[in-house]
Amino acid sequence: MERHEALRKLLYQIDGAGYGAYKRLRGAWAFPDFTLLVDHVQGDPFASPSRLRVRVPQEVARFPRELFQSRPRRISLEDFLVRRLAHEIPRCTKGARGSGHSGRFSVVDFGQCILPRTAVRITEEAVEAIISCGLPAAGRRILGREAEAMLLTELPELVRRALLYTSLDPEAVRRHVECGEDAEALRGQLAEHGLVAFVAEGAILPRASGVSDRPLRTGAVPFAPPESLAVTLERPNAGPIRGMGIPEGVTLIVGGGYHGKSTLLSALAQGVYNHIPGDGREYVVTRREAVTIRAEDGRFVCGTDISPFIQNLPNGTDTRCFTTQNASGSTSQAANIVEALEVGAKVLLVDEDTSATNFMIRDERMQALVSKDKEPITPFIDRVRQLYQELGVSTVLVMGGSGDYFEVADTVIMMDAYRPRDVTEEAKRIARALGRPRKREGGESFGTIRPRRPDLASIQPRTRKGKLKVQGSRTSLRLGNYTIDLSRLSQFAEVGQVRAVGYLLAWLAEHGEELGTDRTMASLMAALEQRLEEEGLEAFLPARYGDLAEPRRFEVAAALNRLRTLRLRDAAL
Ligand code: ADP
Ligand code: MG
Repeated sequence: MERHEALRKLLYQIDGAGYGAYKRLRGAWAFPDFTLLVDHVQGDPFASPSRLRVRVPQEVARFPRELFQSRPRRISLEDFLVRRLAHEIPRCTKGARGSGHSGRFSVVDFGQCILPRTAVRITEEAVEAIISCGLPAAGRRILGREAEAMLLTELPELVRRALLYTSLDPEAVRRHVECGEDAEALRGQLAEHGLVAFVAEGAILPRASGVSDRPLRTGAVPFAPPESLAVTLERPNAGPIRGMGIPEGVTLIVGGGYHGKSTLLSALAQGVYNHIPGDGREYVVTRREAVTIRAEDGRFVCGTDISPFIQNLPNGTDTRCFTTQNASGSTSQAANIVEALEVGAKVLLVDEDTSATNFMIRDERMQALVSKDKEPITPFIDRVRQLYQELGVSTVLVMGGSGDYFEVADTVIMMDAYRPRDVTEEAKRIARALGRPRKREGGESFGTIRPRRPDLASIQPRTRKGKLKVQGSRTSLRLGNYTIDLSRLSQFAEVGQVRAVGYLLAWLAEHGEELGTDRTMASLMAALEQRLEEEGLEAFLPARYGDLAEPRRFEVAAALNRLRTLRLRDAAL
């Protein structure tokens, strides 16, 4: 390893040279307090920036062990440090210094969630952070002096301010770490209390705007649990906390328009992740296996067994193995449910705002007019109880428009000017008073779902030239030559998860055999998740990337299910 003074000398030498000379920076450089590893050097100032890794030994960084001794604590501390880096970059670096990305430092984008990411890794030995850096140039000529300022002045200052425990506010660090650990512990208590979700008293659910995930600052009504649904759970750090427990079974959220129904459901959907202190939803937790279900017309579907919901299509299509390049509202919603169940969903979150009406209800008058043999759809209302009784899958459903669901609900919560009320008894009374129950459709049993075996060779993560290509945005994933539409999947918390899904799918395509499963969708995803937990995302990557965040298996499967080149192995079935 060369010393940092040798790096300075090298930068003087290549000053004014063609951009390619930056390649000589690759390798390890010893600074007084840390090691700089230049993992990747960009090809030109406009290409995606160079990747630096800094490694600060714990003798210098000095993080107390108790801050990272358990997995939730470590993940929260790493999250804190990523945020710290992002906060300090504009404060101790100059920014633009030439063409393209010249002069810019950056770290991964993040939102309100505490997620396992590849950007920062903390161990007993060291803190390691991956930072992007636009090596400076004028046109394509190296600006050696500017690079010197960046790497030998700004970078050490950034490391000192963001990655040394002594530079941080110990109270803020502790709060962050404890918050993540407490949320994790709350989620862990849901099952034993027979709950699918918990919303703490005082939680702030509404967001600043339709395009911001930050809390609404003015006029937000804090969450107040109804007495009958109130439970108290334990937090290892902050002690007991009271809130509303949403029980297993079928829960209906009703109420007038604009009374906060969808806001509550969105908070539950995000409750599968932990949130930073101050988010307002720190102590809103949902079972990890909760999946948002919506209609998604136009989506691709590959051999999904949607027969519990759809049978006897007019064109004679076999709905035990339903394939289409262009699903309708109802068939897409059916496929979304079945595919979530296939990989282990235990809670379905459904909002009338984003559902296909004919998938959700078929009222008495419509039953009278359009006979069952002319309607391929068995509506969700006739399956929702079977899902719980036969498969143990709970549903939380926002439904302000149809009281038919009163009959099938275990719990009915009414949102009234953003305040929840337990109206279960009232709703049941109303349903009984109307006399005869709804004529049920679709038979006594939900039935079984035919498992699918994806043909991993139909995932093509490489371009025609053989280059691995993974590009993500919040709404789409580009894999090789194909783009997967993710715009209607709302449980991706940040773009790093999308990119990670891309690498996981690429890994499945090229190494999926190693998982040694029977290669059904379910067992592939379970094996993938287990390996993720044991070895981390790094085990699936071709190099050390700093811009990835761990996804859930539901999002991995959802992306795969939407890949239009996907084929099944036993297509004959
Ligand atoms: P619904 O689904 O019942 O029609 P929404 O959940 O979409 O209603 O909420 C309507 C509006 O009220 C949104 O702008 C939302 O941000 C706001 N809102 C939701 N909950 C609260 C709350 N607790 N305090 C203040 N505003 C809220
Ligand atoms: Mg709504």
